[in-house]
Amino acid sequence: MLVIKVGGSRGIDYDAVCADLADLYRRGERFVLVHGGSHETNLVSEKLGKPPRFVTSVSGYESRFTDRETLEIFEMVYCGKVNKAIVETLQAAGVQAIGLSGIDGRLMEGVRKESVTFVEDGKKKVLHGDYTGKVDTVNAGLIRLLLDAGYALAICPPAISRDHIAINVDGDRAAARIAEALGAERLLILSNVPGLLRDVEDERSLVTRIDRSEIDACMEFARGRMKKKMMAAREALDAGVGQVILGDARIDHPVLNALAGRGTVIS
Ligand code: ADP
Repeated sequence: MLVIKVGGSRGIDYDAVCADLADLYRRGERFVLVHGGSHETNLVSEKLGKPPRFVTSVSGYESRFTDRETLEIFEMVYCGKVNKAIVETLQAAGVQAIGLSGIDGRLMEGVRKESVTFVEDGKKKVLHGDYTGKVDTVNAGLIRLLLDAGYALAICPPAISRDHIAINVDGDRAAARIAEALGAERLLILSNVPGLLRDVEDERSLVTRIDRSEIDACMEFARGRMKKKMMAAREALDAGVGQVILGDARIDHPVLNALAGRGTVIS
């Protein structure tokens, strides 16, 4: 079993990802795709006159402040535009694909965090009315049912809270949870960088291999959103996933290249 997370940043080649997935599907490989949509969500938010607001937590993690209106825009883009475009591309490539969000069949469940404490101008501030959370339960039975019936799955946030409210969750960490629940051997996290870079401005500074014990040290040079990917990698490994590969989704054969070990291999 393989779980592939593809981000939503600028430059990602979804067509190339889908072509590789079609290849795996034809070979009868079992996989699940988890995708993002952050860049597209930012564009649509701007067009709708509701620019995105990002906040940085006290521990240095960046997240999108998601009030109810933002959540609705998020759903329009993730579950609508991006998810359906991926399913359409996969179907055209001969893959019997089905797209689901974490709300559908309670595929991804978690606890809502209603307020966010963040740092701005050196001061601690709190925002209420946040619809975010963290996935802690995956409906693996539903995923297996669909895979066993020959469907390929494209899954995206939001997840659903215990009290049935849609929540924005981090896609990388959600993918780690899915990999854990399915007992996946490998988790690929593909984005618009070649992997973890020592210097984010220099793509030649790629870190090619990381041992579990070196993750904390490597957190030092992960900035912004890359921190979440490293955290997801650690959570996946600790939950029994054999290997996490951070790979490039802008190149030809992004999935096959990552599977061949091109990128940052963490084990
Ligand atoms: P996605 O939406 O595709 O999942 P993100 O934008 O969330 O991807 O995360 C990838 C981004 O992390 C890169 O575009 C890069 O700017 C940033 N980043 C920060 N620090 C690093 C680093 N050390 N190595 C690689 N990327 C980094």
